[in-house]
Amino acid sequence: MGHPMTPNERTVAPMIRAWSALLVLLALAGCASAPATSSSAAPGAAAPSTSSRASTGESSPPIRQVLPNGLKLIVQDHRAADIVAVYLYVGVGVRYERPDQLGYSHFQEHMLFKGTDKWGPGYIDRAVEGVGGRTNATTSFDYTDFYIVVPTSSLELALQTLADMAFRSKFDDKEVARERDVIFEEANIEVDNPKSAIIRQLYGVVFADNPYGFPVLGTRPTMNAATGQILKVYNQKYYTPENMTLAVVGPVEPAKVRALVDRIFGVIPATGYKPTAAAVPKPLRGIVKKKVERPEQQSILAMGWSAPPSNDPTGDAVDLLTTILAGSESSRLVRRLRDQDRLVNGITMSYAAQLGGGIVTLRAELEAKDLDRVEQIILEEIKKMQDSGPTEDEVQLAVTKFESQHAFDTETSEGLANAYALAETTWTLDAELTYVDRLRKITRQQIQDAARRYLSRSDYALIAFVPKAL
Ligand SMILES: [Zn+2]
Repeated sequence: MGHPMTPNERTVAPMIRAWSALLVLLALAGCASAPATSSSAAPGAAAPSTSSRASTGESSPPIRQVLPNGLKLIVQDHRAADIVAVYLYVGVGVRYERPDQLGYSHFQEHMLFKGTDKWGPGYIDRAVEGVGGRTNATTSFDYTDFYIVVPTSSLELALQTLADMAFRSKFDDKEVARERDVIFEEANIEVDNPKSAIIRQLYGVVFADNPYGFPVLGTRPTMNAATGQILKVYNQKYYTPENMTLAVVGPVEPAKVRALVDRIFGVIPATGYKPTAAAVPKPLRGIVKKKVERPEQQSILAMGWSAPPSNDPTGDAVDLLTTILAGSESSRLVRRLRDQDRLVNGITMSYAAQLGGGIVTLRAELEAKDLDRVEQIILEEIKKMQDSGPTEDEVQLAVTKFESQHAFDTETSEGLANAYALAETTWTLDAELTYVDRLRKITRQQIQDAARRYLSRSDYALIAFVPKAL
């Protein structure tokens, strides 16, 4: 499906924190190979905030249940529109791939749209579009997700289609060959786009040989070695009910949804699958610098630091920290480097986290001659933050930004269903529901501590894309 983008294809960092915003963005590009979800917590998502609830209609709290076969089901009666959103999150992504399987989680995601035992290629898109709905999918490091959004009267179609895709896909060799070319084209697009390419390379340096540094789109040799049979075996291992979360949000009666899900998903037997714990990346040590010549005239600087994993409570402070430094129009580095010194055209910073570990990334567009100067100023501003922390106003502004982004992300059934299933998969549903409350409690001291702990001035990665010398 579509084109892959890295999550950093955005200009304002605070949104990144919002998992759902990130994914929505990615999904706009079609199939998205997200290198990372954002941070800790319930990012993005959260509880139906009072403000969004008031503006969008009635809604009850989400109900979480576990089916006898292990499938987690989250249902919310949300009466904003006559639309129901169904999200299926599967606990498989790049971090589960062996070196000879690189790219198979994403390849799998594509193949689930390419025919089942009953339906031919193209059926899924036609069936969903036929009722006026939409469908897409995303592959990341810790999970793969699929969604179908349809008029409420087509809820059963959405559930049945997702179950057909997950458990009864065909993996026809001809379709495998066709889809491989689609994915190679996605990889070309990723490499051609300097903003996504530099972040991809930064992940490779910061996470080094940990799977979070591997390419979501795989490698030529592993992709060429994939067959229908190999991908089917991969599917049977990971696409099991106990490795899935289904979220259904819309004007629905939870008991009726449960009955449908029991009939469609509840009959799939558990396999006894046990997920393996995420390998914790080794923290980056020392300063690793890399310069890459590129065809573009504009230079790009990217810096990266090791950061806490998605279920670490200090992640909330890191979110605010990156926002205060370079996550908004009024952030310190934007004001100094772009507005005052005019050394960069743009600069952004954000925190993204996986189950095993996270990363803080910074990206700036500038002239090659200013690279050293800009790096020095960034380190200076980091030192100021480590020495004196943010002001109370800066903290308030950053919290407000996240709150409003969060309210926006979770205004729709789609945003809520995605946020719930994502939080359940990468932390807990409760972490999502308490997100805004937690953010409001973060102190200046916690942000200063996060700057000292995570933004080392002697341990970081730096990549510069510079114009090819003539
Ligand atoms: Zn794709």
